[in-house]
Amino acid sequence: MAYAYDDQNIFAKILRGEIPNNTVLETDHSLAFHDIQPQAPVHVLVIPKGPYVNYDHFAAQASEAEITDYARAIGEVCKLVEVAPGNDGDGYRLISNAGEAGVQEVPHLHMHVLGGRVLGRMLKKFDD
Ligand code: 5GP
Repeated sequence: MAYAYDDQNIFAKILRGEIPNNTVLETDHSLAFHDIQPQAPVHVLVIPKGPYVNYDHFAAQASEAEITDYARAIGEVCKLVEVAPGNDGDGYRLISNAGEAGVQEVPHLHMHVLGGRVLGRMLKKFDD
């Protein structure tokens, strides 16, 4: 499966320093920053630095070092922004939208870290 990555997407521009961001954490392979239009008191985006469109692209083609770094960075962000249960937080939700059905706006893998309030049920009831 070929994945087409558009290096003009907004997160690629953030990674190149062409657009500013409010950084929460930077690691060797990942960057976390506050969402520009937060949907909860805590809304952080965690992205890999590599050119991956979405999660399945990343899982298939990222190196073990990138995958480990990204997984750890997301966990570290949950602690840093104090949403990790048992670490000064009340809980959080991780969401990664992909493609049309997932209503993905920016075609560079990102994990939304949401928290700071009760987030409600994950999805509305599904009825055909
Ligand atoms: P998606 O719908 O692709 O899962 O989410 C994209 C997210 O990126 C949205 O929550 C949107 O607010 C955020 N976003 C879009 N442009 C920018 C930007 O220039 N800076 C930051 N920090 N977030 C952005």
